[in-house]
Amino acid sequence: MTAIKLFKNAHVLAPEDLGVQDVLVAANKIVAVAAGLGADFSSALNVTNNNLPIEIIDATGFYLTPGFVDSLVHFIGGGGEGGFASRTPEMQLTDATLGGVTTAIGVLGTDATTRTLTNLLAKAHALETEGITTYCYTGSYQVPCRTLLGSVTDDLILIDKFIGVGEIAISDHRSSQPTLDELRKVAAAARVGGMLAGKAGIVSVHVGAGASLLDPLHQAVAGTELQISQFYPTHINRNQAVFAAGLRFAQAGGVIDFTTSTTMYDLQHGEVAAAQALALALDKGIPVSQLTLSSDGNASLPIFSSTGQLLGLEVGKVSSLYQSARSAVMDYQVTLPNAIAAITSSPADVLGLSHKGRIALDKDADIVLININNLQIDSVFAKGKLLVKSGKAVVFGTFEKYDR
Ligand code: ZN
Repeated sequence: MTAIKLFKNAHVLAPEDLGVQDVLVAANKIVAVAAGLGADFSSALNVTNNNLPIEIIDATGFYLTPGFVDSLVHFIGGGGEGGFASRTPEMQLTDATLGGVTTAIGVLGTDATTRTLTNLLAKAHALETEGITTYCYTGSYQVPCRTLLGSVTDDLILIDKFIGVGEIAISDHRSSQPTLDELRKVAAAARVGGMLAGKAGIVSVHVGAGASLLDPLHQAVAGTELQISQFYPTHINRNQAVFAAGLRFAQAGGVIDFTTSTTMYDLQHGEVAAAQALALALDKGIPVSQLTLSSDGNASLPIFSSTGQLLGLEVGKVSSLYQSARSAVMDYQVTLPNAIAAITSSPADVLGLSHKGRIALDKDADIVLININNLQIDSVFAKGKLLVKSGKAVVFGTFEKYDR
């Protein structure tokens, strides 16, 4: 394992299409992106001693993209809406890495009683130790928010891994039915906490199938100094009505997020596939900087019979993130740079993660190599370290290795 890697002849999607380039990585950072970087890279590194060991990686035939940023993952599991036995399991490291995800944001969900912020933080630290980058949202579905230190503001200022609050539920039978005033107070606390800590202070919003759609967010912003961009609503592809409301929200300047984990039942009952939602929103002229995909990994996905009986539960998968981006290209004619942007630069910008989501100087060396012929993930590097090679994990989570 060498600390310096030179990717030769990669087709770089930064996510902008940069054509064929070489990418030089030192330790955990990208230190040069240029055509024709030779084995003598001392000028690019601005060093005189060129005796450092270097690993040359022939990336001919591959797209080289930023590692994917997944803004909504139930790291420690979620669900539970069908009783204790319906609580979903924890995510494992390779659930993320095999899907190219090198940055993930952990959240609670409906249940902030048996699922706790302390447990979420511990899991975030564990995944970080195992190899990827993690952050969390404080709070859960409910308002007033469950927090660790007593307030959203304190959590954002004093706990490094907390970069926002959520997913706060609106327009959903599982929400705490927050009033407009309560939503405003949450957003204000996140705004101030974010400012003082140099973070985005974003308010992630779970949008249910209720008739009020995104109206609570428009109303919360109206007549205040709050910006619509502070709210980051997700599940916007849940059904046609929510999708239409999402387009209006984006046209008003907001960012919208489409959920990639799904079931046949959902798709047959009005859900807009995330890949198609991305294509339709782009066609409506919404810039990709306002469009993101997230997996909702390890959430519970109920399966119903044709008569509406609960047949069972599936679990959301982090790997659905890239599968949807790939489908957007292959099935819905989205350009590859746009599809990659929706899972890299767009979420990184929304979340205020300036060191993530791009192939550029000084960014973290989170890199995915994608086979140009079939658009399948080949290799994944996180902070300069190889985690997936030839589509197979080479690094496993602490307890995964015993399962193999
Ligand atoms: Zn949700």
